[in-house]
Amino acid sequence: MNILVIEDEPKTSAYLRKGLVENGFTVDVCGDGVDGLHAALGAAYDLIVLDVTLPGQDGWSILKELRRHGLLTPVLFLTARDAVPDRVKGLELGADDYLVKPFAFSELLARLRTILRRGSGRQADVLRVSDLEMDLVRHRASRGEKRLDLTPKEFLLLALLVRRAGEVLSRTLIAEQVWDMNFDSDTNVVDVHVRRLRAKVADPFDKKLIHTVRGMGYVLEERDGSAHPAAALLVARRPLDGLVRAGVIRADPDGYGLSILGAGGKPGLGGRSFSGGPGVAAG
Ligand code: CA
Repeated sequence: MNILVIEDEPKTSAYLRKGLVENGFTVDVCGDGVDGLHAALGAAYDLIVLDVTLPGQDGWSILKELRRHGLLTPVLFLTARDAVPDRVKGLELGADDYLVKPFAFSELLARLRTILRRGSGRQADVLRVSDLEMDLVRHRASRGEKRLDLTPKEFLLLALLVRRAGEVLSRTLIAEQVWDMNFDSDTNVVDVHVRRLRAKVADPFDKKLIHTVRGMGYVLEERDGSAHPAAALLVARRPLDGLVRAGVIRADPDGYGLSILGAGGKPGLGGRSFSGGPGVAAG
């Protein structure tokens, strides 16, 4: 889950970021009202933690602007003011809750989860692929009857794969989404975490669900034994024509996979094209 924190006190925002990340959330922080509004309008967040007194633009007007743009992202107001009129004003403007500083992080987390559970109808709380089920609010994952014991990072990684099931996600994209960082230099971190995740989520089960698409990344999906279409696409881009011509490999007729031919396998395709693929031509 992605959370945007708009808060100008560095100490508070650092405290929030740390606590939320430890609890498996992805967090963006803006210390200025104008930047905060811009960020909120520019990306899809599951929730916004919004301070009232901010440089540039105050929390009230940010919320007003968001709702005026039709953005229904839940908002939790965070402020030192605890006057009743302020609280009423916030709720009237469409805030989902209101928390007075100083606050205990556990209190914030509880409120935040209540809001997320209530949801705005944009996203289901429970995601399912095959027998894999993820409850995003309660932070629980299971396969069939078996509860999966995941670290916050593993949960986040799995949630990303499940949310975008069927889509091949590159290591760079995964690094950005899960670690909120650019791992260009070391996407090995992603591989290591995927391996650990697989040990818990895939290896003990018949259906593996998490698949490697060589040279591209990872995909989570239920498969009936055939490779992902992307594999055929990849092969078309790679200098494997020689193997096709030599009859060592062949694209499956449905275009969804490759066959490795045994000795004496006929070089049926003549190295020209794969049949039935998603517009793929070899050579
Ligand atoms: Ca402030």
